[in-house]
Amino acid sequence: MRPVSSWGRLSAEPHLVAELSDIATLVSELSGKGPAIPLGMGRSYGDACLNPGGTLLSTARLDRFHSFDPETGRLVCEAGVQLRDIQRFLLPRGWSLPLIPGTQIVSVGGAIANDVHGKNHHRVGSFGHHVRTLTLVRTDGQVVDCGPGVRPDLFAATVGGIGLTGLIATAELQLQPVAGPWLDTEILSYRSLEEFLTLADDSESLWEHTVSWIDCTVGSRSRGIFLRANPAVDQSGKPPLPRRLAVPVTPPLSPFNRLTLPVFNSIYYHLNRHRSRARRRPFDTFLFPLDDIQDWNRLYGPRGFFQYQLVVPRDVGPAALRDILDIIARSGQGSFLAVIKTFGERASAGLLSFPTPGITLSLDFPNRGQNTERLFVELDAVVRSAGGRLYLAKDARMPREVFEAGYPRAPELAKFRDPGMSSGMSRRLMGQ
Ligand SMILES: Cc1cc2nc3c(=O)[nH]c(=O)nc-3n(C[C@H](O)[C@H](O)[C@H](O)COP(=O)(O)OP(=O)(O)OC[C@H]3O[C@@H](n4cnc5c(N)ncnc54)[C@H](O)[C@@H]3O)c2cc1C
Repeated sequence: MRPVSSWGRLSAEPHLVAELSDIATLVSELSGKGPAIPLGMGRSYGDACLNPGGTLLSTARLDRFHSFDPETGRLVCEAGVQLRDIQRFLLPRGWSLPLIPGTQIVSVGGAIANDVHGKNHHRVGSFGHHVRTLTLVRTDGQVVDCGPGVRPDLFAATVGGIGLTGLIATAELQLQPVAGPWLDTEILSYRSLEEFLTLADDSESLWEHTVSWIDCTVGSRSRGIFLRANPAVDQSGKPPLPRRLAVPVTPPLSPFNRLTLPVFNSIYYHLNRHRSRARRRPFDTFLFPLDDIQDWNRLYGPRGFFQYQLVVPRDVGPAALRDILDIIARSGQGSFLAVIKTFGERASAGLLSFPTPGITLSLDFPNRGQNTERLFVELDAVVRSAGGRLYLAKDARMPREVFEAGYPRAPELAKFRDPGMSSGMSRRLMGQ
């Protein structure tokens, strides 16, 4: 047994970590492992990838590419392959993953099991839309293929199914052609939620990637920085190697507090407000800026941090977001990493997929114990009454009733569950 934390570093409880080594021996490697849950790169913030006192099935060594067809862009690979490795290998050959979340250090299995989304959700939907088939190995020894056209019910339970239907061993992904690694990007500032929504609506038909930073320390008088990008017209030249920084130690106290946050946010807003508006940038520095800072999650101090990501339907979204921003500003527990984005209309592929049409807001909060939980209870009430939901990949604490209200299809998962799979999150939200 050894202590394992997820990205939020909220706990470090003992786990038995089984390093899966070979696709060919998975059936025997999984048998008799008891209540277990797959572990990818541990980039989920809470307990979706944790199983305190039990077994984690680590896929880190299931990292082989099986085949790639340069005619069709179909890639077959093992579930432990990282999205970053797919990009490194295939981008120079003119192909790219259709979407990547805010970090590339994510496994294919983790991307499917949380049905992750990127800054181009309005164009391409979420990860599950680009999976053609996958092979699932269950703890009773069954090996089952599923996809949108083969066992679509099991596929819908597995996409976004947080590892509970079995271990994804391999997947066939549809990639998309890409001209090169450069993006033409633009930065714009806005001074209200209405202005943000207008910018988002105007940008979606013309821009492939859209996302925005929002200053959540000023309440519903919010202001922010809107970023958008398209594949660059000029793809010449090799992007410079990214600057690699690291947070070498965990500071005894988080530098983000009631006094410093408004200052950090204000500096960030004013610096970016005056930056040049149009610029050609490498795709990775635009899409995954935090990947250049190793262990940035240590910055929140020894008690770790929560990420709270919600989505609310578009019609009631602005009113709900105004309430949420006011509650956060009043609490004095604002967030520096606050991101707001609109999701597109495409229905997600999974029973428990997070993206639904509307507006999504994600915020980081240092863990301040009961004070933080009291804030979340207030936020939960707004999300619930707006008919919204919280993202399981980010969650570490939502009460079961908030989950059941946000995910009305959750009971359908029961008949597809692998009885040998159980996580901290499944026990907290589903009772087993
Ligand atoms: C900096 C940062 C930015 C992020 N930005 C975004 C974003 O923009 N959009 C977004 O959607 N998400 C985002 N995330 C969340 C992240 O993309 C997801 O949590 C993703 O699932 C992590 O993948 P992982 O390989 O680390 O999986 P883990 O966190 O290890 O596991 C995630 C879930 O997948 C299951 N799982 C893992 N492998 C398998 C497998 N082989 N078979 C079956 N189940 C499996 C686990 O049991 C667990 O339930 C971000 C995370 C970070 C740290």
